[in-house]
Amino acid sequence: MEYMTKEKRYNTLNAFYRHKFGEKVFKIPLNGGFSCPNKESKTLKGGCIYCTESGSGDFAGDKNDSLKEQYNKILQMMNNKWNGKTIVYFQANTNTYKPVDELRIMFDEAISLSEDIVGLSIATRCDALDEAKYNLLGELSKKTYLQIELGLQSINDETISFMNRGHNKECFERAVKELRKREIDVVVHIINGFPTDSYQDSLNIIKYLNTLDIQGIKIHMLHVMRQTKLAKIYLEKPFKLFSLNEYRDLVIDQLELLNSNIIVHRITGDSPKHLLIEPQWTLKKFIVMNEIDKKMRETNSYQGKKTTL
Ligand code: SF4
Repeated sequence: MEYMTKEKRYNTLNAFYRHKFGEKVFKIPLNGGFSCPNKESKTLKGGCIYCTESGSGDFAGDKNDSLKEQYNKILQMMNNKWNGKTIVYFQANTNTYKPVDELRIMFDEAISLSEDIVGLSIATRCDALDEAKYNLLGELSKKTYLQIELGLQSINDETISFMNRGHNKECFERAVKELRKREIDVVVHIINGFPTDSYQDSLNIIKYLNTLDIQGIKIHMLHVMRQTKLAKIYLEKPFKLFSLNEYRDLVIDQLELLNSNIIVHRITGDSPKHLLIEPQWTLKKFIVMNEIDKKMRETNSYQGKKTTL
């Protein structure tokens, strides 16, 4: 449990970065003006039902600014509070969904924006990767520390269909293998709280991930956001969402199952207040994190406690 602290009984990203880079590291979210194959798909019509227009890019730079301008503006805001090295982060939509030559130019530019940049993080989908793109990522990983974030969200077939995810587990597994062949760190996104997922499904996805060679995980609560298909479904016929305490208990159960060598990048998500319909408690991100940390300490819980069960 190299990256566990007294307060946080799971491998925190902060401790991992401090160990790897010798100091505090911040992610700078840049917007490369990407779209998403799932949003553009004629058969799937509109992409994942919970996705907003920005594709999780609400906190990224302005896509109309150059990468340099975005980087400098965000750094300026952060430097009022923090100092340290940076990782440039392409988060909004699907950040390998462009021709490989354009990707090469963009990512090369991004990692050269400042001497403080120690890594590159790219969020994408397994079906927006092919041999040429894997090879490009392999090249990039020799120039800088590279993380690829892959959305999975659920492994329950009913949920995959309900959320209109547009790819299956096999596609995801292929991507993990190709990335690991090139020694690239893989970070997987999962979402808790789909009405089609049972509590056991949320534990099964952790057991499944433990069987794969992944290095990081981001755990989110399902957010019902305005202007999404999910909002329409929810407002017409509200379904049960986890309370804060239910979510806390589920995340602790998931962390206890999770392999002790995986880095936990997130245990709760962010969303812009004006777009969020439910659950409103997710806006209190630090309270959610504190509740999880507090209960883990009180119950002598820790990441990996039940991995072997
Ligand atoms: S893959 Fe990501 S960006 Fe694309 S529709 Fe789904 S959530 Fe949105």
